[in-house]
Amino acid sequence: MSDCIFCKIVAGELPSENVYETDDVLAFRDIRPQAPVHVLVIPKKHIQSAHHVAPEDAELVGRLHMAAQHVAEELGIAKDGYRLVTNIGWHGQQTVPHLHYHLIGGRQLQWPPG
Ligand code: AMP
Repeated sequence: MSDCIFCKIVAGELPSENVYETDDVLAFRDIRPQAPVHVLVIPKKHIQSAHHVAPEDAELVGRLHMAAQHVAEELGIAKDGYRLVTNIGWHGQQTVPHLHYHLIGGRQLQWPPG
């Protein structure tokens, strides 16, 4: 989508600090990190949110999860654990309408969220 900031990052039209990339997945550091590790894992294909995943996206979503595991291992947070979370819509406080997983770790996280 032409006005989507994550599509612009995928297209190289906005800068990003990439940590992992495949043909259909990109992982880059969040611009406002909430923990020592805060990476966004996104499909290159524009999907509005996790609620908009279609049956034909099932394999792609599986690859997103594989990418998140890979990044967690590479960045050294897999052993101690981390959080993989995706916000959806208004009440979920999703601010960028392009499906993304927040991969957050490197410190003790709190639960429940607000
Ligand atoms: P959400 O609020 O769940 O939609 O998450 C969107 C995330 O994208 C926030 O954590 C923002 O800090 C992050 N973000 C927004 N713009 C950029 C950008 N240009 N590069 C990296 N992260 C960004």
